[in-house]
Amino acid sequence: MQQRNYDHAGIYRVAELYEQVQQLEKDVASFDHQRNLVNQSIRQARDKQERQQRIDEAKAWKDRIKDTTIQLDATKKQLEAEALHIPNDTHPDVPVGDESKARLVRQVGEPRTGEVKDHLALAEAMDMVDFEQASKVTGSKWYYLKNQGVWLELALIQYAMQQAYAHKFSPVLPPDVVRTSVAYGCGFQPRQSEASQIYNVSTPTMEASAPPLCLAGTAEIPLTGLFADQMLEEDTLPRKVVGFSHAFRAEAGHGSAQERGLYRVHQFSKVELFAVSTPDQSDAILSQILALQEAMFQDLGLCYRVLDMPTEELGASAYRKYDIEAWMPGKNDWGEISSTSNCTDYQARRLGVRYVAKDFKEHVGGKNVRVPWHIKEQWVHYCHTLNGTAMAIPRIIIALLETHQRPDGSVYLPRCLRKWIPGEPSELK
Ligand code: AMP
Repeated sequence: MQQRNYDHAGIYRVAELYEQVQQLEKDVASFDHQRNLVNQSIRQARDKQERQQRIDEAKAWKDRIKDTTIQLDATKKQLEAEALHIPNDTHPDVPVGDESKARLVRQVGEPRTGEVKDHLALAEAMDMVDFEQASKVTGSKWYYLKNQGVWLELALIQYAMQQAYAHKFSPVLPPDVVRTSVAYGCGFQPRQSEASQIYNVSTPTMEASAPPLCLAGTAEIPLTGLFADQMLEEDTLPRKVVGFSHAFRAEAGHGSAQERGLYRVHQFSKVELFAVSTPDQSDAILSQILALQEAMFQDLGLCYRVLDMPTEELGASAYRKYDIEAWMPGKNDWGEISSTSNCTDYQARRLGVRYVAKDFKEHVGGKNVRVPWHIKEQWVHYCHTLNGTAMAIPRIIIALLETHQRPDGSVYLPRCLRKWIPGEPSELK
């Protein structure tokens, strides 16, 4: 937690509460045992008076069990609330420190330098984007995409969805609104030291007791939720899905000149890769996701670099994370365009994503039976979850426009996108 720059004071409280829960569980079990013994002895009572005495004693044990169970439930809730702030373990090879400690894995292509326009100048000249009107309709950092901008976004979505599908990711259109508890289960609970990046949702018809809802900051949340509370069969793993959704981010505390235009907005479209696997499959899937992302960015003709992200950049859920940054000539700098994480069993534990070992069926003679609780540990395990950005549209538009611009203001359009755009043009102008 220290290496990930997490406040770890609460960890001692977690240990304390955990011990209390264990003690209370033992107490409930032992009181229950006592009650059973007394219950059994009622029949052996020699007279009415002794019988009544034992009935009273059994009732006293019952009341004690009830009180202790109430205390146990409350302590469990406290434990869960505290434990929610603990991040995942960290892969031993992850560089320790802040953003500056990211390890360069590789760079592909050469950065374009020289006289260039930035994406906003290019997009506005082509009437692709309107921030001004959107600021009146919604607020700053909201935007309309128009004309060629619309076709470009739709082409990027189609292209990414189809590429992922060709790599055996099943397509999903998830809800953009999720239960806040599912977002927290994925590790998006606000850090004590930070403002929440989450837009909460409420409606006048929502009952006070209804579970709180929020706008999803990424499709990773509803895609993880697709497997919540499920008992998957080992031989159906890995399960790979690709989702398209809108991502909503409050982006409190951001807004530098380097992040102007489409770089940091409150709502954006994103195609997300997601996988659920067994623990021994997850390393290989992380590499597969990275390879797919790189193949797409190469098709788009982008200059990019892959970074092994350091401990302070892992957020709550990632065990290991690779970011890809594209060269953005308009700001003469690199800008993050995608992120890929192996979250190991962190999200799966919180959301109950488990699998039954494939030998279990053999063990029970091929029958479809539930795993009895007393042998669960042997046969039932938590899955690993992984996610990766296939296409975060606005930043890809930035990299495309700025990289492929020509002196006359037109922009070369990569071949892979043309078939999704009316007239199949070779350039935008
Ligand atoms: P994250 O889920 O934070 O790793 O973000 C995934 C990708 O979405 C990033 O790599 C960026 O390309 C993009 N992105 C994140 N935040 C924003 C934002 N506020 N506006 C536009 N794109 C964003």
